[in-house]
Amino acid sequence: MNLNLLEECRGAKRIGITGHVRPDGDCLGACLGLWQYLANCLPGTEIKVFLEKPADIFKDIKGFGEIDSEFPEEPAFDVFFVLDTSTDRLGGAEKYFRAAGKTINIDHHVSNPGGGQINLIRPEVGSTCELIYDLLDLARLDKDMAQALYVGIIHDTGVFQYSNTTPDTLKKGAELISYGFDFPKLILETFYQKTYVQAQVMGRALMESIRFLGGSCIVSAIDKKTMEFYNVGPKDLDGIVNQLRNIEGVDCAIFLYETATLEYKVSMRSSEKVNVAEVAAYFGGGGHARAAGCNMTGTFHDCVNNLSLHIEKALKKWEAEHDERNHNS
Ligand code: 5GP
Ligand code: MN
Repeated sequence: MNLNLLEECRGAKRIGITGHVRPDGDCLGACLGLWQYLANCLPGTEIKVFLEKPADIFKDIKGFGEIDSEFPEEPAFDVFFVLDTSTDRLGGAEKYFRAAGKTINIDHHVSNPGGGQINLIRPEVGSTCELIYDLLDLARLDKDMAQALYVGIIHDTGVFQYSNTTPDTLKKGAELISYGFDFPKLILETFYQKTYVQAQVMGRALMESIRFLGGSCIVSAIDKKTMEFYNVGPKDLDGIVNQLRNIEGVDCAIFLYETATLEYKVSMRSSEKVNVAEVAAYFGGGGHARAAGCNMTGTFHDCVNNLSLHIEKALKKWEAEHDERNHNS
């Protein structure tokens, strides 16, 4: 990879780093891993990370307490990094991106057209943390950085299970755990563990789920009233859509939660047949072929009907191609 991070930052007095709204494990791991690396390699340089407040499960990652979630007015940054997202999902950090002297966008979302002055967009790579790993001088990697990058990799690959996991992902995982952080604890606490109330909400979403398109699709939603009843927020709903997708016979899972009256945040997952990034892009969202999201307006039924049209088309297309392949073999 021919992007030299330290070269690009040479002479910079102030460096900013951000990721996407509602930061997930990969976004957070990439931002804090890069923050640690630059702080170690460029002493005397002011380096700041701006992100919406991440979930507390990530509090043991070094630098968590340094994250600025207030987005105050700041003088322009000499270099500004946008990680794990296109430049249209920066929320409160967008103003820093606009004002910065040099902008660098590092991401692995297929929907990212590359909005920085310098862009490293690799959709074939499972996580942004793997991209960051490839850009580091490995002689400077330490235990805390290794832990941050490992968190990102396990979150975006489902602990090395999703189809975006490559031999190279596992090699990096092997190298990272050699630094000696407590990886079983990290995997449990950031990926699998749920609070009792989170488990209850997930149970409710599973119980109220509806299968359609012959069982190949499943959908569930949590409305605002239910979120208020359980006193939960969007961060408490992570993992529900994956659980729906794990159900036998399901290729495409959809989970919606209500963000305002007649407004929903949509998460989609698929196993093989439906490219959910394409479905999400149709509604102004994006993501990856197997995991994507968008925002939609209308009633629950409007949203599902609109999504279902595109999903059905994708399923039919896959089946036609599949039939043709069987026929030709
Ligand atoms: P999740 O369903 O976990 O929120 O997101 C799945 C994937 O889709 C993530 O890579 C996330 O960044 C992406 N994604 C989710 N919502 C949106 C959206 O509204 N716009 C775009 N461009 N990507 C999204
Ligand atoms: Mn990612």
